[in-house]
Amino acid sequence: MGRVRSGASEPRVSGIRTLHLLSCSHAAVECQGEIGVWKSELKMKMNVGLTLRAAKGCWRLNLSQQCAHGSIGLFVPPSPPVDPEKVKELQRFVSLSKRLLVMTGAGVSTESGIPDYRSEKVGLYARTDRRPIQHRDFVQRAPVRQRYWARNFVGWPQFSSHQPNPAHWALSSWERLGKLYWLVTQNVDALHTKAGSQRLTELHGCMHRVLCLACGEQTPRGVLQERFEALNPSWRAEAHGLAPDGDVFLTEEQVQSFRVPACARCGGPLKPDVVFFGDTVNPDKVDFVHRRVKEADSLLVVGSSLQVYSGYRFILTAREKKLPIAILNIGPTRSDHLACLKLDSRCGELLPLIDPQ
Ligand SMILES: [Zn+2]
Repeated sequence: MGRVRSGASEPRVSGIRTLHLLSCSHAAVECQGEIGVWKSELKMKMNVGLTLRAAKGCWRLNLSQQCAHGSIGLFVPPSPPVDPEKVKELQRFVSLSKRLLVMTGAGVSTESGIPDYRSEKVGLYARTDRRPIQHRDFVQRAPVRQRYWARNFVGWPQFSSHQPNPAHWALSSWERLGKLYWLVTQNVDALHTKAGSQRLTELHGCMHRVLCLACGEQTPRGVLQERFEALNPSWRAEAHGLAPDGDVFLTEEQVQSFRVPACARCGGPLKPDVVFFGDTVNPDKVDFVHRRVKEADSLLVVGSSLQVYSGYRFILTAREKKLPIAILNIGPTRSDHLACLKLDSRCGELLPLIDPQ
């Protein structure tokens, strides 16, 4: 990550000023060096606040520490205590399955500190007036791409530093132990991959890859970050509020002075390898998942309200096949009436309780 270091450990950049949040909930700050300057620049926004500045050609980044409890409090909806009877029922569901297909959504990543869009009261739709970028706008308009990449550049160090939570680790272990037949995720955060899952389809792509819209070349997102830094040595931004796709908010002036590199191979425009709203999932990928659903003998939905059709259609396929369906999600989903079992619990709290043997 070059001169910018991020993650759950203490952010320390360029050795000029060191800062970390001791507690997300109390926003306690320990500063060394030019405290007054930092204080005036900081706006305490719990664990989603970040400050990025450039001085003498060096990027310096302050990331609020990923305090687990603070993150959960912000992004995970309240849920009732785990019901032991429900846990037993889910255990029975999993034990009876020989070819279990699991489909995950944003709710599995909120416990890693990544907000979702739709959760009541805590999702971005509920907390802000922000809406996700539309595919057509991105493809057709260079200023839209410039705005997107400027924001994404600022948000990337924090977004890419998120780590799997116990739910991701549990599903990864289920795969290793032969319990999980296939995993389909609607998330673009790479947390299942970070946890070691391999029998995995990322239905909506992954933010950790970049795609050229002209020649189709795929490159790692981390490489693009280095190109951004090289092209924008004196660009500075301060931003607050990280969206699920790594987006943040900037002023017009900040956006217009941000330089966006083109594809190194053909000069074409670059896009994250994800399905934006208004775009469709690759038909081959859809067919592939349909086949996996048809081969499965049961379906477990984890952390998804199933509001988006691209995921919901696989529930319909499972219903046609008369597969038993279990849903673990805080709050109602589009398919509660189709499920033989519904659990309103935190994914990271409940899945580790299940014995996959
Ligand atoms: Zn290209």
